Amino acid sequence: MKVAIQNNDKPVSVEVANKLRHLLENADIEINQINPDILITIGGDGTLLSGFHRYAHQLDAIRFIGVHTGRLGFYTDWREYELESLVESLKNDDGESVSYPLLDVTVIYEGDRAENNFLALNESTVQKVGGTLVSDVYIDDVHFERFRGDGICVSTPTGSTGYSKSVGGAVLHPRIEALQMSEIASINNRVYRTLSSPLVIAKDEEIIIKAINSDELLLTMDHITSRESDVKEVHLRIADESIRFARYRHLNFWDRVSESFIGEKN
Ligand code: NAP
Repeated sequence: MKVAIQNNDKPVSVEVANKLRHLLENADIEINQINPDILITIGGDGTLLSGFHRYAHQLDAIRFIGVHTGRLGFYTDWREYELESLVESLKNDDGESVSYPLLDVTVIYEGDRAENNFLALNESTVQKVGGTLVSDVYIDDVHFERFRGDGICVSTPTGSTGYSKSVGGAVLHPRIEALQMSEIASINNRVYRTLSSPLVIAKDEEIIIKAINSDELLLTMDHITSRESDVKEVHLRIADESIRFARYRHLNFWDRVSESFIGEKN
């Protein structure tokens, strides 16, 4: 087994990464940053997102493990004081994994420029570069609505606890293979009308956004921002690829949601 390590630059994460390196060497587990079987990220959910984008072209070969150096995260099942038990699990690894859907974002441009593809683990947002976005929203070939507002967020099930939740999206169990579209500050009055609530599409459906008032858009894919010109359409659907996590133990999803967002119950 070959293991890569990616950590954020907080002193505690650097220290944990050094300790993990030492434990892996003692256990005769190869550290290989180029072609790993497993990527262990040390930091937070943000660090796992960075690790995902760094190795996104090797998803078939890599399983992910997140170690959180703060409180437990949504992609990070391990805490920094559990490294010994994590290395023990790696030694007994039988290849088991759990996989979650990713978001495929395809940008189609005006003219004959080739389309561009992006992957997101949490979500993608579509916004105008400055000002109100006016866009037609299609679900497959159905013209669903004309949107006016700050932008549109489309999230994966695992991304539903991230930005999507902050713009009013529901929390989805990660085993649900579906995408959720939420509005970012839509304009709704007697003249302009949108659904005004998040919606969840089936796994074989696609959301298509055609901006009316600009061909220059700001797209985000997780923490990455891309300014796109000459955009004709943006297509968002569940990707053919998925992300696989090495599953050495099971943490209850709703327990994690409750702990993260509600805390102590009285
Ligand atoms: P960031 O500062 O790295 O992350 C913002 C916060 O979102 C961090 O506390 C991070 O957790 C948490 N987070 C990331 N993915 C999550 C998930 N799936 N469920 C619950 N919490 C999650 O921000 P960034 O680098 O700009 O963007 C990375 C991601 O952060 C985005 O994809 C977005 O989902 C989320 N974000 C949310 C908001 C918001 O809610 N208003 C704003 C910006 C970004 P850790 O501390 O464990 O890293």
